[in-house]
Amino acid sequence: MSILDLCYEPHPVLHAQARPVTQITGETHALVRNMIETMYAHDGIGLAAPQVGCDLQIFIASPAQQRGKEIVVLNPRLEPIHGQASIREGCLSLPNVWDHVRRSEVVRLRGQNLSGKPISLEVDGLLAIVFQHEVDHLEGRLFIDHLSWFKRRRALAKLKKQRFLPDADASRPTPD
Ligand code: ZN
Repeated sequence: MSILDLCYEPHPVLHAQARPVTQITGETHALVRNMIETMYAHDGIGLAAPQVGCDLQIFIASPAQQRGKEIVVLNPRLEPIHGQASIREGCLSLPNVWDHVRRSEVVRLRGQNLSGKPISLEVDGLLAIVFQHEVDHLEGRLFIDHLSWFKRRRALAKLKKQRFLPDADASRPTPD
C-alpha cells in the first residue's frame, strides 16, 4: 500500500468529468486501497479518485475515520430527498480553505461497491454531505464552486498566496 500524491487546485483533473468504471480489476482494488491510505494520511473523511490524478468515478468515505469501515462507491448517482444542511467544508485539494456550503439534508446514493454489486443508500447528516462533496468531485466540481463569486475569489486568492509562501509545503497540507 502506498500514499498517493494529491492533486491541488488548479489541476485540470479536478475540473473534468470522471469516466465510469466498466471493469473492476486488481488495479481498481489497489487504487482503492491506496486511496484509503492516502485519505487517512491526510486526516480526511472522504476522497475522490480525481484528487489522486485518476479520472474514474470512484470515491471513498469514512466520516467517523474508522479503519475498515470505509464506504467505497463506484459510478455513483445522487438524488436529493429533502431538506437543507450546511457545514463548514474543507477539501484535501484546497489546503486551508474552509467555508459553508448549502447541501441537501437527506440524499439517496446509488452506485456499485468494489465487488460490482449495486448499492442504494439513503443517508443524512455528515455522510450525506460527504457523498455530495465527493460526487461533485467526480463531476469536476469543487466545493468552492457553490460559493458566491466573492467568497470563491477570496478562497482562490488564499490558495494562490499559500503557493508562494516561502515556508509553504504544498504537498503536506495541514487542516486547521
Ligand atoms: Zn474535496
